[in-house]
This record gives sequence, C-alpha cells and structure tokens, in this order.
Amino acid sequence: MARPAPETRRRRRRMVATQLAARALRDRRALAAMAWVPREWFVPPALAADAYDDAPLPIGDGQTISQPYVVALMTACVAPRRRDRVLEIGTGSGYQTAVLARLAGMVFTVERLPDLLVEAEDRFRRLGLTNIRTRLGDGAEGWVEYAPFDGILVTAAVPQVPAPLTEQLALGGRLVVPIGDLAAQELVILRRTAGGVEERRAGGVRFVPLISRLAFSELPRR
Ligand code: SAH
Repeated sequence: MARPAPETRRRRRRMVATQLAARALRDRRALAAMAWVPREWFVPPALAADAYDDAPLPIGDGQTISQPYVVALMTACVAPRRRDRVLEIGTGSGYQTAVLARLAGMVFTVERLPDLLVEAEDRFRRLGLTNIRTRLGDGAEGWVEYAPFDGILVTAAVPQVPAPLTEQLALGGRLVVPIGDLAAQELVILRRTAGGVEERRAGGVRFVPLISRLAFSELPRR
C-alpha cells in the first residue's frame, strides 16, 4: 500500500509541481497526498491518458471528478490532522476521499448514486485505504451518528450551507463548501470557534449541483 502505481509517479509529481505548487499551494501534507493517490484509477479507463490534466473529467451519471487544483485547495482549506474525523458530501469517483484518507484519522463519505459509490468503494479496497466509511443517501443531512466532525467538505454546489452540516461541525472544525447558483460558486470556508462561526472565501469554482431538498428547489430530486 505504500507505493501504488509507481509507473505514474512522475506524472503525479509533475501535476503537483505545475498545477499545485505553481499556484502557490503550500500545504505540504496536501501536496504529499496528491502525489500518492493514482488519479488514473479514479477516471473511466478511456480517459486514463487524461487523468493528470489540469481539468475536471466526466465520471459517468452526469457527474465529474474535480480538477486536481480544486481537490488540493479544498484539502488545504480543511487541513486534516492525523486524528481528525472528516465528512465528505459527494463521494463521486472517490478521489477526494482517498486524498483525505491519507491525511485524516477517519473519513466518512456520503453519495446519492449507488453505481458511483460501489466503484469508489472498490478503489478504496484496492488502495488498501481502510479508514473510510461510506453511506448511500442525502449528504445534506450530514452523518449524525459520527458527528461532530473536525472537517466537512461539500463537493457539490449549494445555494446555502445545509443547516445539519454546520450543526455537525466540531469546535475548531473547518467546513468547505461551494456556495452560489447553478452556473458558478465561490468556495466558502467556515470555522467554528468558541465565539461562533468565522467565514472566509477562497475564490470562484464550478461544481455540479447537490441534489437535495436542502439545496436547489428548482432541480428535480430523482
Ligand atoms: N468528490 C468527487 C466529486 C464529486 S461530483 C470526486 O473527487 O470525484 C459531486 C458528487 O456529489 C456526485 O457524485 C453526485 O452524485 C453527488 N451528490 C449530489 N447530490 C448529493 C447528495 N444530496 N448527497 C450525496 N451526494 C450527492
């Protein structure tokens, strides 16, 4: 498990240097995790040659695996420590989950589409990542049995933060979420402190929408 896919290590190192470090991403732990996870395992086989492109890619069911820079940026915003419990909403390919699992104590991830979840679980097994729990359902509800979380990532767009997620954030915990409309969002980082919730912003992004009664009311939910 220490060194998966050594044949693509050079492509990963180049990705880290040219797409992440070159854009002033300095979080060494996030960069190390990005240099470890074989991204070509998380894209459809026909797109393996494009796996390290500076772009999101389709993964089926109308969904996408995020651009490497966005995965690294969200990881750095949450900055998971070795004992942290992290919740991810929108497992998708499982790529972001795998990056988090290299850094956190335990990762909890929720996906609404069963086909995607089954494929992601298979990748976690093949990579020997045993600190991941998965659930099929509406991630906007969080995962109350395992709350509170030191970090929460929402990897789908929402018009506002779903209330259960803020409620499940531990003291000192960081929540990263793309907030906006269907066309464009801004990455918002909330941090729970003794005095309340601090907010900062980390730039524009484009995610597929979260499908939930707690998200965009104009979208069908099935
Ligand atoms: N983190 C993913 C990117 C996922 S794209 C990756 O690295 O590949 C967004 C994902 O959110 C899609 O897989 C979509 O099916 C899922 N999703 C949409 N609405 C959801 C909801 N209410 N609960 C859980 N997952 C949801």
